[in-house]
Amino acid sequence: MIMNIEEIVAFESIKNVIEAYDDSMQDYLYVYDYEEDHYYIGKSAAKRFAMPTNEFHNVLETHGLFVHPADLGDLLNDLSDIRDGKKDAHNLRYRWIGKDGSPIWINCKGRTIKDTDGKTRYLIGCINEIGKHSVADNDSGLLTEAAVKDKLSEIDFEPKNCYFLELSIDKIEELKQKYGKDYAARLEKVLANCVQASLVNGQYAFKLNNGNVLVFDTLKNTESGIKGLYKTIRQGIDSFIKKDKYDSLYTISAGALRISDCPDYEGDTLQSYIHFAVNEAKRRGSNRVYFFDMCDYEKELANKELVHEMRAAISNGYDGFDMHFQPVVNRFDENLIGAEALLRYTAKDGRVVSPLDFIPLLEESGLIIPVGKWVLKKALSMASECRKIDPDFRVSVNVSYIQLLKSPLFDEIMSALMEANLPPDALIVELTESGYLDNTEAVRSVWRKLRNQGVLIAIDDFGTGYSNLITIGKLKPQIVKIDRSFATKALENEYEFNLLVHIIQMVHSLDLELVIEGIETAEELDRVQSLKPDYIQGYYYSKPIGRPEFINYLNSKIG
Ligand code: C2E
Ligand code: MG
Ligand code: MG
Repeated sequence: MIMNIEEIVAFESIKNVIEAYDDSMQDYLYVYDYEEDHYYIGKSAAKRFAMPTNEFHNVLETHGLFVHPADLGDLLNDLSDIRDGKKDAHNLRYRWIGKDGSPIWINCKGRTIKDTDGKTRYLIGCINEIGKHSVADNDSGLLTEAAVKDKLSEIDFEPKNCYFLELSIDKIEELKQKYGKDYAARLEKVLANCVQASLVNGQYAFKLNNGNVLVFDTLKNTESGIKGLYKTIRQGIDSFIKKDKYDSLYTISAGALRISDCPDYEGDTLQSYIHFAVNEAKRRGSNRVYFFDMCDYEKELANKELVHEMRAAISNGYDGFDMHFQPVVNRFDENLIGAEALLRYTAKDGRVVSPLDFIPLLEESGLIIPVGKWVLKKALSMASECRKIDPDFRVSVNVSYIQLLKSPLFDEIMSALMEANLPPDALIVELTESGYLDNTEAVRSVWRKLRNQGVLIAIDDFGTGYSNLITIGKLKPQIVKIDRSFATKALENEYEFNLLVHIIQMVHSLDLELVIEGIETAEELDRVQSLKPDYIQGYYYSKPIGRPEFINYLNSKIG
C-alpha cells in the first residue's frame, strides 16, 4: 500500500491501537518503522520472550537477542528484502527464545506501508505462537494439552479437592505395529468418545500429545468416585468392543492424582506425578487405576537415580560391582564341591544395595546384558583359579531371562569358557522363575545347545513362582535348587515337609540332583539331612564372601 506520509497513521497512533488490543489477544501485534529504525510490539510479548523491552531502536541488532541463532539469518534476509522493496509481505515461521531460554516456534506475518516515493516505511503485522494454536483436536473433539492451562484458568475450582485422571490404552505401540497407525487412531477416538460420554458438568477432558486422555475433575470427588468414573469409561470401551464384534480387544490403564496429595503442584511437577501414576498402573499389570502415592514416586526416582549411577559405574570399568562366592557342600561328606557366584553392588554413597533391589533394575534397563557378561567372566576366572586347588571345582552363575532373550547367551558362554580355559562342566547355569514366562523354542534351543556341550543347567528357587514341575519337563535341568523360603516352611510345617519329601523323591527318581539353599543353623541342617538332598548351601557353612576370602576358605578345606 502506498500512502502519502501525511496520510499514514503516525507510529504513536499504531502503538496505541496495539496496546489497546494487547490484553484481549493471544497473538502479538507489532509495527516496525524502517525509517526511524523503531519497533513496537504488544507488552505481553516482552513478558513471554527474551526481549529486553517491547519497544526498541536498532531493530535488527536487538532481534539478535531473542531470535533463535539458527533462524536469525533467514529473518534478516527477509527484512532486508522488504526494506529494498523486493517484497511487500512478510510471512515466516521461525523460533524466538522464551524468557526461560527455550525456543518457541512463531509465525510472523506482516505487510508493508510505503511512502509516496515507494520506499518501505512500516511493516505492520502479527506474531502468533504456532504451538498455542493447536488447542483443539478435531479428531477426538477434545481440547488438547496446549489448552489445559488456559482452560484451568477459566474455571472456578478449589485445587485441593480436584483430581486428575490420565487414561491410556494399554500396549498401544504393539497395537500400532500389529494393525497400523489408523487402527490405533481409531482406538484413541473411541477412548475419547467413551470419556466424553462418561463426564458430567465440572469434569473436563483433554487429549494429550502422547495420545492419552486427561480428565480434570472439580467435583470434590472421592477415591471411590474416581474409581467409579474409571469403571464407567471402561464399561463404555467394553461395550464398544462387543459392538465391534470383538474385532479389537484392548484394555485401558489410568493414573489418578488428588491435587491435595502433592505438596508442590507447579505445572511441570504435577505433570510428572500424573505421568508416573499412569505408568505405575501399567507396571502393576495394566487394566487398572492407580492412585498417586508420594512414597512410590520417590522410590521410583531413587531407582532411576540408581540405574543412572550403575550405568556410569559400568562405563567406569564396573566400578562398584563385585562378585561374592558362597560354598556349595556335599551332604554326605560335607566336602565343598563348588560355589555360587553372587553379584554385589556398592553405591557411590557407600550403601550396599541388595541384589533383590538392583537385579530387577538391571533387567528393566537392559543393563543386565553387559553386567551378566562381566559376571560370567569374573566367575569363570575365579573358577579357573579354584581348579588349581581343587580340579573338580564348579561355579554356578545366575542368568537372567533378559540375557536369554536379548543376547547371544550360548556364544557368550562358550567363548567365556574358552577364554578361561575351562571345560563346559565347570559351569552351572542357574535360571530363576521369570525366565519361564517366555519358554519359547528359541529359549529351549539355548538350553539344548548348552546341555549338549556339557554345561550344567540348574532350576533356581524351585517351589516359588513359576519354578515348578512343568519347567523341569520342558527345560530338562540336571540340578534343582530348593529356595530358602520353601525349605524353612518345610522345617516348620509337617504338611510342607511331606510335600518336600515327595518332591525330592520325584526329583531323584528323574535322576536329577538337588540342592537345598538357605541352611543357617545346626538344627536346620539336622532336619534337612533327613530329606536327603545331594548338596547344601547356606550361612551355616559360609555367607557369600569375596574372592580372596573364598580362596583362603577353599585352601583351608582342601589342605
Ligand atoms: P539366588 O540365586 O537364589 O541366590 C541365593 C540367595 O540366598 C543369595 O542372596 C544368598 O546370599 C542367599 N542365601 C544363601 N544362604 C542363605 C542363608 O543361609 N540364609 C539366608 N537368609 N540367605 C541365604 P543374594 O546374594 O542376596 O541374591 C539374591 C538373588 O539375586 C539371587 O538369588 C539371584 O536370584 C539374584 N542374583 C544374585 N547375583 C546375581 C547375578 O549375578 N545375576 C543374576 N541374574 N541374578 C543374581
Ligand atoms: Mg541362584
Ligand atoms: Mg535360589
